[in-house]
Amino acid sequence: MSKSLFNNLRVVLLDRDGVINEEPGPILTPEQFMMIPKSAAAVARLNAEGLRCFVITNQAAFARGDLSESAFQAITDKMHHELQKAGAHLDGQYYCPHHPDWENGERREVPAHCACRKPGTLLLEQAAVEHGFSAEESILIGDSTSDFAAASKWGIFSIGVHTGHGGQDSKVKADPDYWQDDLWSSVEFLLANAS
Ligand SMILES: [Mg+2]
Ligand SMILES: [Zn+2]
Repeated sequence: MSKSLFNNLRVVLLDRDGVINEEPGPILTPEQFMMIPKSAAAVARLNAEGLRCFVITNQAAFARGDLSESAFQAITDKMHHELQKAGAHLDGQYYCPHHPDWENGERREVPAHCACRKPGTLLLEQAAVEHGFSAEESILIGDSTSDFAAASKWGIFSIGVHTGHGGQDSKVKADPDYWQDDLWSSVEFLLANAS
């Protein structure tokens, strides 16, 4: 009897920057938000397979004072629009606006660690509670060590992509369970090995 790598897969948790869109630097305006080739088509494939997709993203530019709620909303609107053009949609987005060393555009005197910034798992847990899924049904695709660490803390598989940071950010010590070139090839790999 053959066993697939990913059993009962229902949910794909996606990092945003470096997975869905290019990340040449912080994304502070809709103009800076450029899709990675075929990432929208990859999400459309997940949608077509009935797998729910949630973006889980660290947005420390809020804490640094570089990103406003309205700018973030405009960037989110552009993402939805770009996805829509490929017939793709997201089932939700969760973001952490914090940074351990920054608050309201000022350097903190004492670092403060929130539970939502990846590698924290609070956003993953929140998505699971609000949308009725479990860790066992989920996988995470990311480009940073903080993504891989969050996935392993929550006890789920992760796929690392070579786009964005490509795992070279050295923030925390963590590896993904699998490597793929980009979101498109991650989705092909997932679908070939899911049940
Ligand atoms: Mg990223
Ligand atoms: Zn946070």
